[in-house]
Amino acid sequence: MLDLRPGCECCDRDLPPDSPDAMICTYECTWCRDCVDNVLHGVCPNCGGNLQPRPIRPAELLATNPASTQRVVREHCP
Ligand SMILES: [Zn+2]
Ligand SMILES: [Zn+2]
Repeated sequence: MLDLRPGCECCDRDLPPDSPDAMICTYECTWCRDCVDNVLHGVCPNCGGNLQPRPIRPAELLATNPASTQRVVREHCP
């Protein structure tokens, strides 16, 4: 199951499961759209892969498959 992380790994802004601004790589590294556009330039700094908008999990499924609450933040964001 996709790990729906609660915030951007770069600026730590909140990215709730229904946020259209969450972007992920194939390893589920999670970033906000601002950082992807202005800081990361479309490339995940952890793995070098590309970033795509995170699919939104329907609310009724979040009840049984809740989003992750574990915040991941990089010490240095490029
Ligand atoms: Zn960010
Ligand atoms: Zn990555």
